[in-house]
Amino acid sequence: MDTVDFAVVGSSGGGGTIAWLLARAGHSVFLAEQGPDIAEHLDRQNLQYNAATHDENRFRLSKPTLHRRTRGDYNTILSSDPTVKNGPFGGAWTASVLGGGSIIWGTWSFRALPIDFRLATHFAETGQLDTLKNWGYSVTDWPVSYDEMEPFYNVAETLLAVSGDRAAVNASVAGSDWYKAFQTLNHVKDDGNYQPTFPFPCDHYPITPIGRFVADGFAAAGKLPAPLPSGMVSPGSASYSTRDAIEHALAAWGSEPKPGFWARSADQIWSDRLRDACNLCGFCGEYLCWGKRGPKSSSRVSTIRELQDIRHAEIRPNAKVFEVMYENGRATGIRYLDISNPDRPRVREQKAKYVIVSAGAVQSARLLLMSEPAKGLGNSTDQVGRYAQFHLFGFGATCTLPEKMQGFLHSELGHTGNTMTFADYFVQDDVSPAGSETAGKWWKAGTLVSTAKKNPLDNADSKLQTKGLVGRDLISDMERYNRGLEIRLTGDDLPMARNRVDLDPSFVDEYGLPVARITRDFGPNETLMFTLMQKRLRACFQHYLDTGLLTNLDDPNQVSIAKSAIVTLIGDHQMGTCRMGDNPAESVVDRFCRLHDVRNVFVVDSSVFPTGFGLNPMVTVMANALRVGTWIDQQSRSGDGLG
Ligand SMILES: Cc1cc2nc3c(=O)[nH]c(=O)nc-3n(C[C@H](O)[C@H](O)[C@H](O)COP(=O)(O)OP(=O)(O)OC[C@H]3O[C@@H](n4cnc5c(N)ncnc54)[C@H](O)[C@@H]3O)c2cc1C
Ligand code: SF4
Repeated sequence: MDTVDFAVVGSSGGGGTIAWLLARAGHSVFLAEQGPDIAEHLDRQNLQYNAATHDENRFRLSKPTLHRRTRGDYNTILSSDPTVKNGPFGGAWTASVLGGGSIIWGTWSFRALPIDFRLATHFAETGQLDTLKNWGYSVTDWPVSYDEMEPFYNVAETLLAVSGDRAAVNASVAGSDWYKAFQTLNHVKDDGNYQPTFPFPCDHYPITPIGRFVADGFAAAGKLPAPLPSGMVSPGSASYSTRDAIEHALAAWGSEPKPGFWARSADQIWSDRLRDACNLCGFCGEYLCWGKRGPKSSSRVSTIRELQDIRHAEIRPNAKVFEVMYENGRATGIRYLDISNPDRPRVREQKAKYVIVSAGAVQSARLLLMSEPAKGLGNSTDQVGRYAQFHLFGFGATCTLPEKMQGFLHSELGHTGNTMTFADYFVQDDVSPAGSETAGKWWKAGTLVSTAKKNPLDNADSKLQTKGLVGRDLISDMERYNRGLEIRLTGDDLPMARNRVDLDPSFVDEYGLPVARITRDFGPNETLMFTLMQKRLRACFQHYLDTGLLTNLDDPNQVSIAKSAIVTLIGDHQMGTCRMGDNPAESVVDRFCRLHDVRNVFVVDSSVFPTGFGLNPMVTVMANALRVGTWIDQQSRSGDGLG
């Protein structure tokens, strides 16, 4: 195609979703993805999972490489943390393959809560906003509300075939101490629906042994547990029809007339393709699913698979975009390196009327900054790259059960994560001295989730590779491993202007392009949260002490609680950098994710998040891409046009 309507950069939850919607609506689309299509080999080599052989060596260890980054790519890190070696590092990548992070994600599928879209309003009402400002944070409301997002959350959950128990998730929110305490606040009454009724499209994922143990621990500690909503066709389900699920989402849209795209019937929106149920093989963590017909959800098995059938859409893997072409105040297309043979890169161009950037928060900022050498595309007010957020990873607790429990915690069942709770989404400061500015106030923490271990052989292999463990040492490590369970906090990482992505002034990649430099430090809110969560994590294991499974919660061989998150453990969840907002002086894109500066360029990945929530981002990325795509389609057909 000579000039397409839309050139989309990146093929994951943001790019894959919007490319499909626009193409299905009739627009011509060119989708550029820097990585290869690694799922192709499943068909080519006929390597589909065989349920009769739980062949971990073949299916887990012999997997193709993860392709977190393409050959020769890297970022640099800049931090004042003394443990961090500043300079090039391997982090801050989701995945560089067709499907992006949606291929290797853990499938934890949360929609955000109404309060997440109004965090500045909330902290202003409680008198904490000034404290946060003085600490260096720039907490702001989203320009869109939960209610505007809700119908798109419903559709996103159908595309992701989320397996869950809505009543249990709602109960976990409503039963939390913070939620009860916030009922007197004005904004909570108007924020939106905290108790959605749209049923998850699949029944909840079965509770695994580890999930059961953790649920009991949560419940005994007064934290209401719920099965973790998971983006995969629940084991035991009949074949999953996305079309039927979309029909339910359309019916739930409400009494308002549906926006143009969604006025179609479900069979005009989706094919009759079916997906199979997950068979609990457990080989998908950080890798694509081996199951036939896509049990694990990704853009690759849903929207991109549909896109492949649309004639006026072209999907181009191995296309590394290095410039949004720009002339007289408008983008004219994209320039990319065809790296099908990385030793012989070829420069190519695709002209387009509109460009949609969805390369992940780090690479989207890098691409915009590279595209206009003077100061960066969309960066007239120096906002591109700022407010980078990554969630607080590495912070959680592990518990090792006694030897008699050997064999009870089958780590290889299912995927990662199984039980969750909203109990500590906000936590009250009950440790600071009375009268201090933080004491008695509720601070943002996040969701707690049980984290299943990776497969045993995979773990043994990595212990051999990374720690050199062999013989008795390896066996004893593996014995402990099979008795261990973990709880992870997905902690909110509040936005600060100084935490940012910019172009490294010294380092370039193998093609001579400047790499992304990530500046990151924790602030006082994170430090406070690490302190407040210590005893709350410990409380999750009190039940095991009471029932005689553990004898001493202070014995690090029984319970180990991290002291803080790890500043360099970033990439899986990357947010911020192209903030969405109404004020061009303080944001990069408007409420429809269009650059304030360049009206025919949009950004639709997690980089537009003004705040990052205390939960996983994928469902919101997709819901937002659906919302923006719907508006683009509607606007382009209206008298005003898209501009
Ligand atoms: C290991 C892991 C586990 C995760 N688990 C969960 C989870 O359980 N739940 C959840 O909600 N989220 C999870 N996430 C996060 C989730 O995957 C991301 O939030 C989601 O994928 C974001 O989608 P995105 O569209 O913003 O872009 P990304 O997934 O970051 O994809 C960006 C795409 O753009 C491509 N790209 C980048 N630069 C260029 C360029 N210059 N030219 C062309 N293409 C380019 C990349 O190759 C990639 O395919 C996880 C992520 C990882 C890595
Ligand atoms: S456990 Fe993961 S890889 Fe195995 S079938 Fe289920 S979703 Fe697919």
